[in-house]
Amino acid sequence: MFNLSRYFSTVSFILIVLAAGVLGPLYRELSLRQITELAESRNVAMAQIFENTLQQPLAQLMVGSLGRDADFLRQSPEVGVLRESVAALMRNTALIQVRVDSRLGMTVFSSDPAQIGAERQAVPGFRAAMAGMTGSELQQHARFVSFDGEHTDVHVLTSYIPVLGERGAVEGVFELVQDVTPFMQQLQRSLWWVTAGVFAVFSLLFVMQYLVVRRAQRILEEQEGRLKSARDTLELQVEARTEELKRTNTQLQGEITERRQAESKLNYLAYHDPLTGLANRRCFIERLEQSLRESAEEDYRLAILFVDLDQFKQVNDSLGHGIGDELLVAVAARLSEQVRLVDMLARLGGDEFICLMERVRGEEEVAIVAGEIIDAFEQPFRLGDNELFLSASVGVSLFPFDGGTVVELMRNADTAMYRAKAVGRGNYHFYTPEMTRDAQERIRMENLLRRALENEEFTVHLQPQVDTQTGRLVGAEALLRWYSPELGMVMPSRFIPLAEDSGIIIPLGTWVLRETCRQVMQWDKGGFALPMVSVNLSVKQLERPEFPGVLREILDETGMTPGRLKLELTESVLMGVGDACGTLQRLRGLGIGLALDDFGTGYSSLSYLKMLPVQQLKIDRSFVTGIGKNTGDEAIIRTVMQLAGSLGFEVVAEGVETAGQAAFLAEMGCQQLQGYLHGGAVDPAEFRNRWAQHS
Ligand code: C2E
Ligand code: CA
Ligand code: CA
Repeated sequence: MFNLSRYFSTVSFILIVLAAGVLGPLYRELSLRQITELAESRNVAMAQIFENTLQQPLAQLMVGSLGRDADFLRQSPEVGVLRESVAALMRNTALIQVRVDSRLGMTVFSSDPAQIGAERQAVPGFRAAMAGMTGSELQQHARFVSFDGEHTDVHVLTSYIPVLGERGAVEGVFELVQDVTPFMQQLQRSLWWVTAGVFAVFSLLFVMQYLVVRRAQRILEEQEGRLKSARDTLELQVEARTEELKRTNTQLQGEITERRQAESKLNYLAYHDPLTGLANRRCFIERLEQSLRESAEEDYRLAILFVDLDQFKQVNDSLGHGIGDELLVAVAARLSEQVRLVDMLARLGGDEFICLMERVRGEEEVAIVAGEIIDAFEQPFRLGDNELFLSASVGVSLFPFDGGTVVELMRNADTAMYRAKAVGRGNYHFYTPEMTRDAQERIRMENLLRRALENEEFTVHLQPQVDTQTGRLVGAEALLRWYSPELGMVMPSRFIPLAEDSGIIIPLGTWVLRETCRQVMQWDKGGFALPMVSVNLSVKQLERPEFPGVLREILDETGMTPGRLKLELTESVLMGVGDACGTLQRLRGLGIGLALDDFGTGYSSLSYLKMLPVQQLKIDRSFVTGIGKNTGDEAIIRTVMQLAGSLGFEVVAEGVETAGQAAFLAEMGCQQLQGYLHGGAVDPAEFRNRWAQHS
């Protein structure tokens, strides 16, 4: 755009220079003229004085000079008289030379005798004076000789003044030379000041105008910006309108292309996952079918890698579906970026991804890719403010060894993935046939488990807990038993994990609590008072926000005193629950007790333990077994006892089988013992028989 400021600066500069160039000389010229006029009028006045005072000798000299030569004149007595008078008159004036020329153009008198006799006809000033006009001539930086000697670098003004005779005719010419140096110096000084003043005024003007111009420039720029955007909008509108017109023009054609586009979009959607843009299940299956046909013909091997995120459900539950979706997109991007050797990557749905590797030569090749998939999760995922650490489990199945059809291969890869997860998160596993047997067994057991509660196949057994010192019964732990008509007696270590995975643990856990409380209260009525009963709690139960409410209902319904009920939790249970401390506080609020089960096998820090509202620690059976055999175990027990002592926890030792173990624990100060030494878990009737008599 036009740069107003720059334009202004340049033009102003030129104008200032021009103005200075014109104004300076003009001022000088005017001043010189003024000086000339002033000095001339002085000269005229002086000439008048000379004329009046020296009329006589002058007239004589003029007449007497006719026909005489210079030497004669110089010698003549009139000149001598004149010189004295002139010298007297010149004193204290600025005049430095006086000269009188005759009508005929010869100098008849001069304050400088050397000039007498000089010819003046050719001098313009003389000729003008002879014509009756007074004129002056300024000489600058001149050298001059006067009475008082030589003057160098002086400024002088010479005036030619006609001397009029009685009848008005010009009789001769006065040449008066005046020293105007002081005037000229004055002029020089004022010229400097004027220049400085002019410059200052111009500069000030320049600055002020520059400010105005700059402001104007800004306004112009703003307006141009506005104009530009208006023009852009207009252009867009014109474009849009043109497009619209084109569209209406080619509507028919457009409809056809639209339909085609819609078709291809539908086609795309049919084969792609809209969230991640990866191939979808259908696409994967079709590709796998084709690959299987080719591989069978050409005797190739194939690998299918089933990828499942380990913590996706937690992310979705705690951070919401929005973040969950973002995470899936990020995972898809990372897998496509970091895992290059696969021939197809697809998302099956949820947090399940699947890879296809064609023309596989050996298992090692597949293992490397599986490792790469696991490694892709090493770096955390950054989504907004969240940094999420995830891991994935990978299951692998191979064609032709692990199946000949799409369904078989995918199912077996899935089974292998479950095995990988069971081994520990962030692992991969190849499929083996026994996995299917295990999986089938699991499915069968799960189905049986689902019906077991309705079919009343469960019972609660009780295992005594006794006082270390007195051997008296202080409580019992409720342990679940499942007698299945199909499977026979199934131990909790087999079915509890299954119940947890399938969610059956929720109604089952509630049932155990209710049944245990009911049993204890029934015994109460029958005169057998069990002081305390402990019930194991699964993480799945604790996770449920409604759990404290359910527990309170059970207490109300059975009439159980809350102080006689204790819940057993493992450290891992606490780690798995979001706000474990808060949840436990709520349970404590109901008045029930809390025990930390399998103590010593987890990783709880001391500072964490201190915060928990727990009253009892249960030393894990594995340490008790080591008593008398393993000094390390004994040391751990000693440390746990000290820790419990300092934190004020009561300690129960689990799995006490021998008198030796009991003695050691008694010595360590352990308050309660639980184990086969005092009795295993038995059904309520037997328990009562054994302990009612005893107490
Ligand atoms: P746990 O809570 O550590 O229970 C103690 C386990 O050790 C019981 O096994 C018990 O029979 C066994 N035991 C007791 N004394 C001795 C002994 O002196 N020597 C040996 N070798 N073992 C002894 P059980 O009944 O098979 O229970 C296994 C696990 O199943 C329990 O471990 C508990 O975690 C879980 N479980 C049992 N019942 C329930 C239940 O109602 N709910 C939940 N959530 N889990 C339960
Ligand atoms: Ca327990
Ligand atoms: Ca235990």
